[in-house]
Parts: sequence; structure tokens; C-alpha cells
Amino acid sequence: MTLDTTGVLPMMAALVTLHAVRYLLAAGGAWLFFWSWKSNPWTKAKRLQAVDFTRADVLREVWTSLRSALVFGTLFGVVYAGLPIVKLEQKGVGAALEFSAWLLFLLVVHDTYFYWAHRFAHHPRVYGWLHSVHHQSRNPSPFAALSFGTLDAVVQVVWAVPIVRFVPVPSLVWLVFSFLAIAINVMGHCGVEPWPVSWQRHPVLKWLNFATMHNQHHLQVRGNYGLYSSAWDRWMGTLLS
Ligand SMILES: [Zn+2]
Ligand SMILES: [Zn+2]
Repeated sequence: MTLDTTGVLPMMAALVTLHAVRYLLAAGGAWLFFWSWKSNPWTKAKRLQAVDFTRADVLREVWTSLRSALVFGTLFGVVYAGLPIVKLEQKGVGAALEFSAWLLFLLVVHDTYFYWAHRFAHHPRVYGWLHSVHHQSRNPSPFAALSFGTLDAVVQVVWAVPIVRFVPVPSLVWLVFSFLAIAINVMGHCGVEPWPVSWQRHPVLKWLNFATMHNQHHLQVRGNYGLYSSAWDRWMGTLLS
């Protein structure tokens, strides 16, 4: 597989813009819904920390997140340039099944990768220079979703590079996955538990990862390393109680 270098810069520009705009829409939307409407009864009843966000925290989160969008777009500009669009092979119901199977594949791979990379990032030998930027937010706002140091931002997405290059995941699945990923990420940082608390004890739904769990991760700076599910935390004994 050869790389068409003539398309690298336009692809980078397009992907940096996509990542930045998508982040601003997702985080900004969550901010408007949960936090700009001061008397929002949902937020009043279900906010996770009593303290308010500081202006300095939010500005830092926006800046470091936009920097991550720049890193993501630059990296994937190189990776995607010259690659053809991969279409679904099936039609009708078969296409829906094919789409769902690929989407589940990406969610499972990313969930597993994220748990172990995140757990590694908390090792005392690497935490300070790799992951501490994300934890400058002890009370994260929705804007903290992509708030990473530059190297941490690379670690966040590098798992996708060999899959993009060597696994024929349809382009539409990647697009939907990337929107889903930022939506779930923002939800994990929205400062409010959007789902009923009873779900955290439900025999099936408890396997999801909840905003409550990730907020606890920011408070305690350990445990609850999961992203989409709490499965690895449960299996490896890192779930905070
Ligand atoms: Zn962490
Ligand atoms: Zn976080």
C-alpha cells in the first residue's frame, strides 16, 4: 500500500477541522444543556460535584482539547491520505448487520486498548509527563473531553492507525464510530450523571461506564480506567466503590 503524499495537506486540514468542530459542537452542546441553564432541574438534582467550574479550568480544557484535535487531524491526515473509501459489502438487512458488527468490533477494540493504555498512563514513572494534563481537571467540565498533553493525545488514537491501514473497516463505520466516541467521551465529562442511578446496579446495564465512574476517576486519580464499559475495571479489580 503506497501513500499519496500530494493529498496529505488537504486531508490534514479537513481532519483537523472535523475533529475541532465536532469537539466544539459536542462539548458546547453539553455545556449549553447542562450548565448554561442555571436552573436546569436535572443538573441541580444529578450534578456530580458541588463546586462550580472555574473559568481558568474551562479555558485550559478548551485550549488543550483543540491542541489534541490538531494532533489527531495531523496524524490521521498522514494515515488516510491516498486511501480509498471502503464501502459496505452487503445490501439491505445484510448491510445493517455488517455495519453493526464492524461498529461493535471498533468499540470492543477501543475499549480494551483504552483501559490498558490508561492504566499504563497512571504508572508513577510515566504519569507526570504523559497523562497529568488530563488530571489538571479535578472537576472536569464537558470541555475536558479531549484535554490531553500532546504525547497523551497520540497515545489516545494510535491504536486506530494499523486498523485503518490493514483492516477493511468500512469508512461509514469509522465516521459513525468517531461521532459516537466523542459523544460518549463528552458524556463521561459532563459533570452530571445523565442516566438513572439504578442502572449502575442493573445486572446488564452496570457493565456500561457511567459519568459517575469517570468523575470519580478525576477525583481520586486512580481506578475506573474504562471508557465505554466498566468490564475491564470489574475483571481487573480496579473499579472504585
Ligand atoms: Zn486518568
Ligand atoms: Zn477524563
